[in-house]
Amino acid sequence: MIIVLRNGAPQREIDQLTDMIVRQGGITVNPVRGTDLTILGLIGDTSRLDDSRIESFHCVERIMHVAEPYKKANRMFHPGDSQVSIGGFPVGGRKLAVMAGPCSVESREQITFIAQSIQRSGAQILRGGAFKPRTSPYAFQGLKYEGLELLKAARAETGLPIVTEIMSPNDIDRFVEDVDCIQVGARNMQNFDLLRQLGKIDKPILLKRGLSATIEEWLMSAEYILSGGNEKVILCERGIRTFETYTRNTMDLSAVPVVKRLSHLPIIVDPSHGTGKRWMVEPMARAAVAVGADGVMIEVHNDPQHALSDGQQSVTPAQFDEIMKDIRNIAAAVGREL
Ligand code: PEP
Ligand code: MN
Repeated sequence: MIIVLRNGAPQREIDQLTDMIVRQGGITVNPVRGTDLTILGLIGDTSRLDDSRIESFHCVERIMHVAEPYKKANRMFHPGDSQVSIGGFPVGGRKLAVMAGPCSVESREQITFIAQSIQRSGAQILRGGAFKPRTSPYAFQGLKYEGLELLKAARAETGLPIVTEIMSPNDIDRFVEDVDCIQVGARNMQNFDLLRQLGKIDKPILLKRGLSATIEEWLMSAEYILSGGNEKVILCERGIRTFETYTRNTMDLSAVPVVKRLSHLPIIVDPSHGTGKRWMVEPMARAAVAVGADGVMIEVHNDPQHALSDGQQSVTPAQFDEIMKDIRNIAAAVGREL
């Protein structure tokens, strides 16, 4: 339930209303002060609350019932766009966020070289997988903790904040210590135990869309993190499974305007996993910016032919530089900046 408050309502009255609601038990009241209006977002069992009793408070303008199962992720709870800062860079503002780097961290030389190249091209955040969720147990599984150390070294070298994927809840403390943003991969989007624990920490979470998750299921996964108290969630569309086999996934760009309508959370797009093809990364990155995404995540490799994972969809630093020039123009055309 959402209570829209009258403009200029005295705090004393708002406090009295809040007390009355909290006394019913099982409900938390989240005040959200926007530029135009202030609302109280109620979460919990509101079935015993009497609308007319709430409306009898002078400070109340109107009541709205939220039909969707996600509350804190709902735009009704937070009418303005949320911004989530990664190492000082605000994702969700006018400036587009570009996260780039290899699928897997492979060596100190590789990650540092790529970090320096993407930085020269204008990317603000370095990505790189240390723990890799591979379909085959025989495929390269990532450098794990050594990979985290190499990412930290690349950060020290360039100043770029780092984002990397977590696989196990046992690694949360280490990730909180080491990285600027924790990625939850598509395969773990519904690992509810992991999500619940990430809700208890104070660190941005990049939540990728599950391979066959509906938008509502995805927002419910975000709700697991938000409801625990961690409000720093960024969504990432990375393609979904459909009957189409030409591309690795079907990149659902329509998810961007849908998410923007339903939620206040920032959303970026990953055209690398979204298509699985190097030549498609550029056109789909442009489309992502045109449709209103808050940024893109792009896999970049110095030697894609010999990459230990996802070489077929990785662009070279030179190609990445071209993509950046290209999306800078699109950004300007849709009132964004890069
Ligand atoms: C990745 O970012 O390298 C990755 C494994 O992504 P996804 O979870 O979207 O497949
Ligand atoms: Mn990858």
